Amino acid sequence: MAAFRSSVSLSSIDGKHKTAGEIHVIVGPMFAGKTTSLLRRIKSEGNNGRNVAMIKSSKDTRYAKDSVVTHDGLKFPCWALPDLASFQQKLGDDAYQKVDVIGIDEAQFFEDLYDFCCKAADHDGKTIIIAGLDGDYLRRSFGSVLDIIPLADTITKLTARCELCGKRAFFSLRKTAETQTELIGGADVYMPVCRQHYVNGQVVMEAARNVLESCKVQSESQADTPAAVV
Ligand SMILES: [Zn+2]
Repeated sequence: MAAFRSSVSLSSIDGKHKTAGEIHVIVGPMFAGKTTSLLRRIKSEGNNGRNVAMIKSSKDTRYAKDSVVTHDGLKFPCWALPDLASFQQKLGDDAYQKVDVIGIDEAQFFEDLYDFCCKAADHDGKTIIIAGLDGDYLRRSFGSVLDIIPLADTITKLTARCELCGKRAFFSLRKTAETQTELIGGADVYMPVCRQHYVNGQVVMEAARNVLESCKVQSESQADTPAAVV
């Protein structure tokens, strides 16, 4: 008996669709040159005659509001948005259709990264280049950046230089006592470190945070006297 196999006709998969999109992801710790690398790629796409647009999170107001600026001063105009879904709306449908390449900086701050990338690359034929932190200061997955790895054409992990020994740095060590995941800052708050100095640094910082926490608890219990209600 002949084996029966159901199969989808390839003619229904092939053709008809406009230019296929692409997704390229650049990750790494802080000070690894992710934004510089993103800007270089966006500028080169622009020089090749493609229509480019750059998006960054409106949460990051460290530098100019309407520009992506690298630590070493490179600059490019951008859309500062609270989420990616609002991009098409802000730009308008006609202008969105004309965009070939979309750069996304600080991608860890966009919760709708996965849905946006699926739609823009799979259905709208856009090339998307994403730069973001893969891990937070505790080396846990940060935002949705790792979720888009299965969607990506290429993934590049950049490294920085360890601020303490000069070896390759893979991690961002937080130098302050704050414990929230999202704490936007530069060299005043974070430093790139190698594995050994991350581990040593974490021990020191955890101890410092514990001391601060117990001081806070003490001062709070001392201040636990009834306050006047205004
Ligand atoms: Zn080191």
